[in-house]
Amino acid sequence: MALIVQKFGGSSVADAESIKRVAKRIVDTRRAGHDVVVAVSAMGDTTDELLDLAGQVAPVPAPRELDMLLSSGERISMALLAMAIHSMGYEARSFTGSQAGMITTADHGSARIVDVTPVRLREALDDGAIVIVAGFQGFNRDTRDITTLGRGGSDTTAVALAAALDADVCEIYSDVDGIFTADPRVVPLARKLERISAEEMLELAANGAKVLYIRAVEYARRHGVLIHARSTFTSNDGTYVLGEGMTDPRQNSEGAEMSDAIGMEEPVVAGVAIDRSQAKVAVVGVPDVPGSAAAIFTLVARTGANIDMIVQNAQSAQPGRTDISFTLPKQEAVEVVKVLAAEQESIGFENLVHDDQVGKLSVVGAGMRTHSGVSVTLFEALSKNGINIDMISTSEIRISVIVGENDLDEAARAVHTAYGLDGDVEATVYAGTGR
Ligand code: ASP
Ligand code: MG
Repeated sequence: MALIVQKFGGSSVADAESIKRVAKRIVDTRRAGHDVVVAVSAMGDTTDELLDLAGQVAPVPAPRELDMLLSSGERISMALLAMAIHSMGYEARSFTGSQAGMITTADHGSARIVDVTPVRLREALDDGAIVIVAGFQGFNRDTRDITTLGRGGSDTTAVALAAALDADVCEIYSDVDGIFTADPRVVPLARKLERISAEEMLELAANGAKVLYIRAVEYARRHGVLIHARSTFTSNDGTYVLGEGMTDPRQNSEGAEMSDAIGMEEPVVAGVAIDRSQAKVAVVGVPDVPGSAAAIFTLVARTGANIDMIVQNAQSAQPGRTDISFTLPKQEAVEVVKVLAAEQESIGFENLVHDDQVGKLSVVGAGMRTHSGVSVTLFEALSKNGINIDMISTSEIRISVIVGENDLDEAARAVHTAYGLDGDVEATVYAGTGR
């Protein structure tokens, strides 16, 4: 008998029918002899609708009240789900985040989990009940107020519950089959991965992949939680996300030899991610003296912008000057450009270029540590397709390039093929969001 945490996203509990289907799935797990703890998101687009409603009564809703409002979405789905399970003859108890002992920081709208005290959940489990917990919310001890964890926070709720209860696995259900080598809507030959390291998953998520939330994967890695990302609509295995030292539970029974063989086949590149949310700002003709970069990025930092890549040209067209380019989220670029333009004279640069028709393509793979020449494949694939590279950056296990936004999809397909990631058949593409 295992303890299994299951998380169901908004699209999995969008209406009464879906809730009944999810209830059946939970009951099936219980029938198989396992203890089940469920974290559930608000139904469908409830959170967006509530946000919209808040915006209609107040231009800037009070953060405390906004959390009161948004946390109600998950309260609806948790109660309905518990009722549905009851009517199938099984005991289920629903708990809000605070009842479940989700202790968070006080930051409304972006609270972080600092402790989980699942006393009531353990009691319920001991009584043989299925436990349903409202995702995305918690409670701060000092303010004694309800908090929310930020959009997509139910993944984190699930992982935190799994860690606190020492669950065997945290199953994250959504409307896609698992984690793919690329977004199947863009790369039709993308393949579902059997497993991926948490490290690679974090890089993919940080660079545009939307299946799992970064914070949840980080939490899982830190606390040694095994994640299984899978579909609500099939009983197929999805993708296991393995932290350091973890093994795919399916490999254990097959013996060491088998896992060695699988290890050898592990490709250098795990996946390709694309990100359309970034813009590029180039500060052209900056005086090439100590302090220029500090002056620019002090201003940028003051706007709160989140810089991704930074490139400084060794030499601009003019002696004594250099170009500094960086990328950041599109919405933040507008403000940054305004702030920099106002200081053109004091910094002494010649020109500002703001380009929001760019896209970032990243290839991620832990194998890059031990294989050389991985980047050549990327550059060749792009060159063969006549795609120009604007900026390049790398980490230990990632290579990213900035290309024109219109080239991004083609670039992803070409690169996916070049790294040998293509499957034999087109992936089934649901209208799904991965939530
Ligand atoms: N309902 C929240 C949201 O839509 C939390 C979640 O779905 O994970 O962001
Ligand atoms: Mg949602």
